[in-house]
Amino acid sequence: MAGIYIHIPFCKQKCSYCDFCSFPNKSGYEEAYMACLYKEMELRKDELKDKVFDTVYFGGGTPSVIDPKYIYGAMKQVKTLFSLSKNPEITIEMNPGTVTEEKIALYKRAGINRFSVGLQTAIDSQLADLNRIYTARDFAHVATLLKGENFNADVMLGLKGQTMEDIKKTIDFAVLGGASHISMYALTVEDGTPIYTDYLNGELPDEDTVANWYEEGRSYLEEKGFHRYEISNFAKTGRESRHNRNYWERGEYVGFGLSASSFMHERRLTNTFDQDEYMKCVLSGFLPVVDCEEVDEPTARFESIMLGLRTAKGLDLSAFEKKYGSFFDRYASAYERTKDYMTVEGNYLKIKDEYLYVQNSIVIEYMEEEKKGD
Ligand code: SF4
Repeated sequence: MAGIYIHIPFCKQKCSYCDFCSFPNKSGYEEAYMACLYKEMELRKDELKDKVFDTVYFGGGTPSVIDPKYIYGAMKQVKTLFSLSKNPEITIEMNPGTVTEEKIALYKRAGINRFSVGLQTAIDSQLADLNRIYTARDFAHVATLLKGENFNADVMLGLKGQTMEDIKKTIDFAVLGGASHISMYALTVEDGTPIYTDYLNGELPDEDTVANWYEEGRSYLEEKGFHRYEISNFAKTGRESRHNRNYWERGEYVGFGLSASSFMHERRLTNTFDQDEYMKCVLSGFLPVVDCEEVDEPTARFESIMLGLRTAKGLDLSAFEKKYGSFFDRYASAYERTKDYMTVEGNYLKIKDEYLYVQNSIVIEYMEEEKKGD
């Protein structure tokens, strides 16, 4: 099984922390961009004719900001050109300030059956600070429109002036709104974004505070019936994201649109981030790929470990052994240094629950060992 990612790079305005490939106030380009996106799909149809896709994911940017007819058109193109599995998971990211009942109705007609809503925080002053375009009330309205649907809400930790009470309030807000999945993650401060100044001024909560909030948030979510299946992802049973699970299992995927990447046959392709270049390439009949990386075996091996250990289930040791030989033979000394933080359950090696948040510092030991070579 494989996944399809479709990038919609338009937004109403730029959030203060955002360094994604997204453009505010470029709605005049929507039609031309989407025409190119449909064409890019056509350019890859022969190469992908034997693949069966189990998930489709519209991400951005803000997919819900554009006229929904383009999302409908993109799904029509997907269904015409590619093979989908019997019951595919089809997700769209939505910004609460851009959603209407009519849009949701058309998304559903297009086959979309999962929604991901960027709540971030239920505190209006924090939303304003992030330059988000909506209020908590707008989220509540969208939640009403999504009643009974499978939907995710994002919750962000580490905001200026945030408290644990605010985080609990945000979680309550998402849960009461009917979310079946919650992504809870720490704000990443990128150099060059407006929020970087707050960081330099020491106005953001420090790492230890955020780590404590994460732990408290995790138990709070568990009390509410959301189990953690990956560092940042919590779901009601059966509502885990299949699209993301495919990434963590190093499954194949194809990405369409600006900045999208694809991973097939141990090759990673990345599309251009430049909108004019993207459109010129596609219109001239060329793939808009600007980077092509052949993933060698040591890298693939390390990626399997890094991604597997992000999940609560852990790394599948039998699958690993089939591909690369015994895990414990190869990484004997890294395992010796990290074993107090890990546990083996059946066929899986996992990071103990209380250490999952600091997964990076554990996994780095395996990267070091990989670098030393065979
Ligand atoms: S809505 Fe998302 S992609 Fe758009 S500016 Fe905000 S964070 Fe960036």
